[in-house]
This record gives sequence, C-alpha cells and structure tokens, in this order.
Amino acid sequence: MSDKPVRVRFAPSPTGPLHMGGVRTALYNYLFAKKHNGTFIIRIEDTDQARFVSGAQDYIMDALKWCGIEPTEGPGIGGDFGPYVQSERQHLYRPFADELIHSEKAYYAFDTSEELDAVREQAKKMGMPNWQYNSVSRTTMKNSLTLPQDQVEELLANNTPFVIRMKMPRNQDVRFEDIIRGWVVVNTNNLDDKVLFKSDGMPTYHLANIVDDHLMEISHVIRGEEWLPSAPLHVLLYEAFGWERPQFAHLPLLLRPDGNGKLSKRDGDRLGFPVFPTNWVAADGELYSGYREKGYFPEAFINMLAFLGWNPGTTKEIFSLEELTEAFTLDRVSKSGAKFDPEKTKWFQQNYLRDTSDTKLAESIAKEINSNLPIEKLIQICHLMKERATFVRDIAVEGIYLFEAPEAYDEQTVSKKWKDGTKELMEHWLQELETLDAFTALNIEERFKLFLEKTGLGIGAVLPLFRLLITGTGAGPSMFEIGEFLGKEECLSRMNQGITAVETLKK
Ligand code: GLU
Repeated sequence: MSDKPVRVRFAPSPTGPLHMGGVRTALYNYLFAKKHNGTFIIRIEDTDQARFVSGAQDYIMDALKWCGIEPTEGPGIGGDFGPYVQSERQHLYRPFADELIHSEKAYYAFDTSEELDAVREQAKKMGMPNWQYNSVSRTTMKNSLTLPQDQVEELLANNTPFVIRMKMPRNQDVRFEDIIRGWVVVNTNNLDDKVLFKSDGMPTYHLANIVDDHLMEISHVIRGEEWLPSAPLHVLLYEAFGWERPQFAHLPLLLRPDGNGKLSKRDGDRLGFPVFPTNWVAADGELYSGYREKGYFPEAFINMLAFLGWNPGTTKEIFSLEELTEAFTLDRVSKSGAKFDPEKTKWFQQNYLRDTSDTKLAESIAKEINSNLPIEKLIQICHLMKERATFVRDIAVEGIYLFEAPEAYDEQTVSKKWKDGTKELMEHWLQELETLDAFTALNIEERFKLFLEKTGLGIGAVLPLFRLLITGTGAGPSMFEIGEFLGKEECLSRMNQGITAVETLKK
C-alpha cells in the first residue's frame, strides 16, 4: 500500500432507500478506513436530478447511523473537503469539462434527443440494436469534431443546448489493477463516448465522481461490481487530467438466496426478508420493510453483512464492529457473488440476543409492552426465554404464559397425551405440589422425580401434561424454573383450571 493517507468514500445517489448491498459497501469502506487510521467520507451523488427522490438522503444518513457506520466527513458532519453533496458543488465541475475540451479529450455534441432516437431507430432497422455514440459513429454526428469551428462557436453563442462527451481514443488498451480482481484490460473500441456534462448544466456521474475523488484526495475507491464497466473510462479521465488515480476495489454482487441473480430491492418482501436496513415508505405509499423494524440488532445485521463477500480465514463468526475493523482486509474479499442467506441472518441475530444481558433485554421489553410486572420479573422472563427467541419481541410473544394464565391448550399435546386417567394423574401431581413448602425449581424437580418413581411413569408421560396445564404449550424452557417463577399459588390455580378446561375439551 502506498504511504498516502487512507481516504475512502461511500458515494450513494439519493435515488431511493439504501439497499443492504449499499450498506455493505459503506461498511467495507468504514472498516478499511478504521483499520488504516484513515478517513471515511460520505458523499451524496445527486447530479441526476431526474432520479432524485426526496427523503432518500436523510434515509441513508439515518440508516448508516443505526448501523453504527459513522463517517468522519460528510453532509451534516463537515470536514475540510466539503460540501459533500454534489448539487452544492455544481459550480465546480464545468471548468474541468472545459479543460478536457481544450486538451481535445472531450467535445461538444449538439445532437438533439430526437436526432439521437432517429439514428438509433435506423441502426435497429439495419440489425444493430445496440447503437452507440462512439469513436466511429461520432464522425457522422453533429458535434464539434465534425462541424466547422465557426458553426460550433455560433451554436454556443446562440445557447444551443449541448452536452460534452468524452472523446474515446480508438483501439487502445486500458489497464488497471483492481485490488480484488487483479489486472483488468479493456480495449477502448468497446467503450462509448460517454456524456460528461449534460445540457441541464450538471455534470454526469462519471465527471463529478472523478473530479470529487481527486479534490477529496480519495486514496481507494471501494464500490460495487456494477461500477467495474465504468472503471476504464474513469482511468482514462484520470489520465486526461494528468491526475494520480486512486486504487480500485470492486466488491462482489449480493445474490438471491438461490444464487439466481442479483438481490434486488423487490426481492426482499417477495421472498420474505428485508433488503433494506430500516423501513422505507415510497412516494406511492408502498412499504419496504427494514431490518431494524423486524427486530434485528444493528450489531447482528452488520456482522452478517460483513460476511457477505468476506471471511476472516478462521472459523470465528461473531465479530463486533471493533473486531471486524481489526480483522478486515480487502485481500480476503472474494471475487464471486455472495449468496444472501436469510436463515444465517437469523442465526446471527439469535447469537446476539443470547449475548445480551437479561437486564438489557428486560429494559427493551418494558419499553415495548404494557405490563405491570416489576423489572425483576421481566429480567427472569428474559433469562427463561432468550435461548428460544430470535427477536426481543419473541420473548414476550412466546413466553406469554409467563405474564398470564393460558386461555388455550396445545391441541397436539391434548390429543396425544391426555388419556383416560390423566385427570386423576394430574390431580395426584397437584397434591404433591401442594405439600411443597419452598417452591423452588430444585424442590419441584426433586419432587417430580419422586413422583415418577412412585407412579412408575417416564418423564414423557408426565412432564408434557404438567407443561400443558401451566403454559398451554407443547414446548418451552424448564418447567421447574417456570414453576418457581410463577410461584406455588399461581401454579396450583393454573393446574386446577387447566384440568377442568382440558377435560371439557375432551368431551
Ligand atoms: N453514486 C454511485 C452509486 O450510486 C457511486 C459509485 C462509486 O462509488 O463510484 O453507487
């Protein structure tokens, strides 16, 4: 690595909410910057006014904040290289486009969109559906390379709309080394004369991106694979300006769980998982769901994302943001697309939930539900339930019987286990419990074992029935601990109530 200070940027366009692929790009930039004591910058690329979506910039900034990916420089944060929103830098770009005109690396093109459409149509009829404005076709178009100089000057003087296009050299190999992909070689005959400056007075992405990366002294461009085809043009632009170019690293695509194609923004809700960090309500009112609102912890979401296209080279999978910073290197980022795995995402969340203290979980639950249970009780509930939960809200939903007596009884357990004589068996067990003084988990368990010995029955013939009466369910955490938590009075009353209710059900 060169000794230039590391300065990297995440440069989203505010054309909608931030897809999780974008969050991963931001994350890798952030980790790379932190690892090298560098600077992580956010730059909003909003030069395409037609695709601008109101609210998207705030969404992006808020979502990154939720993820803990905090920029060092950016809009609303400041820094010595601002402004960090391209529309606020608009005045900056034209002189650079002019510079390219003067050095004959770019030219004015006056073709109207109707004229361009007509040429495309004509080419299609002649069996060329992918007509391009390039080093061959430009010789027959209306531009400053084909028109006499005085006519060009007149057109400009008359404010005739124009664009500035890159004058792509003919038959030249463009080479650059991508940190992830190795050497990339593209012949300019395969590249078109991209528009650099538009008739609306705005630069295109390509020009603004290169100018800003240069002015902001970006050392490494870490971005999605979809930008790889643009990289040769960018390399040529750096050469045209005589600037040192940053190093490139193009990250692998995120693929659908079946590996079939790119994970798109519509996939999420269609396939049953979010693809956005936080909820987004589109202008037409459609809701795109987010990880935050589904109940994911940002730490779990980030940990999962880090592993989509990167691995630490060991079997360790649970990494805090600090640990990721420590372990992250671009040479462990893979070239091939990374398949998104919704189940693995839940697995990360479960791990983080289990690692969260009972007290912290109880505090979150207290905020979410309306319960008059004291915090100590909520802490015990979390302790009992968290092994079986994925999200904080599961604790209250799955463990509802820890808050109130069951109103229904698991049908499968009733039909499989409740037989003739079960009523008497449970009444017998109830009497045993009645005689227990200290109603602790340990004592209940001890008495239970004695009861099995006395009746000659196995665990499977008694415990599910005990659980059914107390909780209404067929599975859950230790019944002895549940017993202690609810207390003797509540347990006995639930058993009485349960026996009558199930007996009625059976009739
Ligand atoms: N504005 C581009 C985007 O929306 C940034 C591409 C780049 O990082 O160069 O992804």
